[in-house]
Amino acid sequence: MRTTLLSAAALALTACCNAQTNVPAITFQPLPYAYTALEPHIDAKTVEIHYSRHHKAYYTNLMKALEGTDLVGKSMEAILPGVSKCPAAIRNNLGGHYNHTFYWNILSPKGGGTPTGPLLEKINSTFGSFDAFKEAFKQAAMTRFGSGWAWLSVAPDGSLFISSTPNQENPLMDTAEKRGTPILTIDVWEHAYYLKHQNLRASSVDAFWNIVNWPAVATLFEQTQQSKK
Ligand code: MN
Repeated sequence: MRTTLLSAAALALTACCNAQTNVPAITFQPLPYAYTALEPHIDAKTVEIHYSRHHKAYYTNLMKALEGTDLVGKSMEAILPGVSKCPAAIRNNLGGHYNHTFYWNILSPKGGGTPTGPLLEKINSTFGSFDAFKEAFKQAAMTRFGSGWAWLSVAPDGSLFISSTPNQENPLMDTAEKRGTPILTIDVWEHAYYLKHQNLRASSVDAFWNIVNWPAVATLFEQTQQSKK
């Protein structure tokens, strides 16, 4: 009983924030647009099931897995770099919740086109051109065997790199082959595209470029540059 009460109090704390350190709480954020908003690139039914069932389940299971641990009240970004020491239930569901929250926020019904400014310059100097970058990113998405994610990230030395991760892993985790701060991602689990694109992952990656929120990606990129100063 005592444990239950303590856990309930700890969970209540995550519902707002950690009062001592002002760490942002782990919350299930509203989808930033309607289920229909990403049509025709991602159909409404896929967005609805993906957000309200798949993503929500990761969040619910994460909250259960964190209950009673000393990680309650910590932000996702604080836990991810040491996640290899966490039980699988925390590792998988934390990755699932972080990755999906990130994914929804770098998509927009008004997205597409090309990045501008310092981000475009960095992409051009790293990959040769925007088209060459898109091709390399698609290659990472296509060659991820089974379920996972492809990423564009900023390495600790400030350079850009493309990678892919299996299952619900991500570049912030100490389990990642190449670690960095992600600024763009695509979910290549079949649940992200199967209803519209069936088994055609390539077609879903091509559609993805029409809804990338480049201003949001540029903001994430610029934050990594500021934190280096
Ligand atoms: Mn997913």
